Amino acid sequence: MSTVTFEGRSHRAEPGEAVLTTLLREGEAVPHSCRSGVCRSCLLQAIQGAPPASSQKPLKDTLQAQGYFLSCIATPESNLTVALPNTDVIGHTTARLLSREQLAPEIFKLTLQAEESFPFYAGQFITVRRWQSDGLRRSYSIAAPPTDEGTIELHVRCIPGGQMSTWLCEELEVGARLDLFGPEGDSFYLQGDPTRPLLLIGTGTGLAPLAGIIRDALNQNHTGPLQLFHGSRHTDGLYLQAELGALAATHPNLTYTPCTSTTGLRADAAAFAAIPDTSGWRVYLCGNPEMVKSAQRKAFLRGASLSDIYTDPFVCLGK
Ligand SMILES: Cc1cc2nc3c(=O)[nH]c(=O)nc-3n(C[C@H](O)[C@H](O)[C@H](O)COP(=O)(O)OP(=O)(O)OC[C@H]3O[C@@H](n4cnc5c(N)ncnc54)[C@H](O)[C@@H]3O)c2cc1C
Repeated sequence: MSTVTFEGRSHRAEPGEAVLTTLLREGEAVPHSCRSGVCRSCLLQAIQGAPPASSQKPLKDTLQAQGYFLSCIATPESNLTVALPNTDVIGHTTARLLSREQLAPEIFKLTLQAEESFPFYAGQFITVRRWQSDGLRRSYSIAAPPTDEGTIELHVRCIPGGQMSTWLCEELEVGARLDLFGPEGDSFYLQGDPTRPLLLIGTGTGLAPLAGIIRDALNQNHTGPLQLFHGSRHTDGLYLQAELGALAATHPNLTYTPCTSTTGLRADAAAFAAIPDTSGWRVYLCGNPEMVKSAQRKAFLRGASLSDIYTDPFVCLGK
């Protein structure tokens, strides 16, 4: 049985238990959110002992070399002494809510004003922490390229009973502060290949990063095909239709296909019917984790290289 030592206190890890689970069970304050190895909120550094390689795999080589690992997916193989990361390893800024606009019955556009320099690419995600509150954290994708004013656009689905989403969509007052960490993720527009065909498939607010990538690609005069498929369970979840329709009307290389499950047209099914051979395509998949997983497999089996498939599953607690 291994022990995990944090801030001088040693705790026994139950067999098969992740480091984060051990520490939370023992009342240690470790930031966390998705608990699936996606959001990276639970990043820790091993000061003594080696974290399992699988818990370091999602991280950059430079972080791996310094012993950083994702504690939610790290089942210790030996005793570990761990510490919270240095603040320079995870980006941070405070921000204020500049405006909130309802885009669909359950979906809100939040525009945040970063208070310090906070470089990012549209399509990456940030982790929001409630300001001076209970430390609750959740991740949200960035829906628009950076602006000179330092604004950050998010699309948040208000989930009934959802702690962070109802706070962001219903309670947070304009002008109020919140903490942002990151940015994280590699789902963003890559410069230097303006003719490359891009296939973008998203469900629900999985449109947020895809809208950001499309806006960025068009700003950078991308000339290759941009094929966007957005799925929602109901028609009223197909937000941004007017804007995306207008962009498609003025950019012949952009195709926008809204899909609803109620009419039988799933976004991933529609996409692969339109593009049966994905060889040479760069593919972005965002939103519902099951859709992302199955579409990743299909895109690969239809010819896309695994290194050209970028995924952002919106994993959440309790699912
Ligand atoms: C990389 C990443 C990017 C993300 N980007 C976005 C984004 O751009 N926009 C966005 O709205 N969300 C996004 N999410 C999801 C977001 O982080 C939260 O999980 C979501 O807002 C719910 O948090 P909550 O605190 O409101 O709900 P919680 O209090 O955590 O959950 C309350 C209940 O709601 C259920 N629940 C949670 N999420 C959903 C859901 N989507 N559908 C149905 N039931 C749910 C839970 O299972 C639980 O039972 C992203 C997640 C990840 C990991």
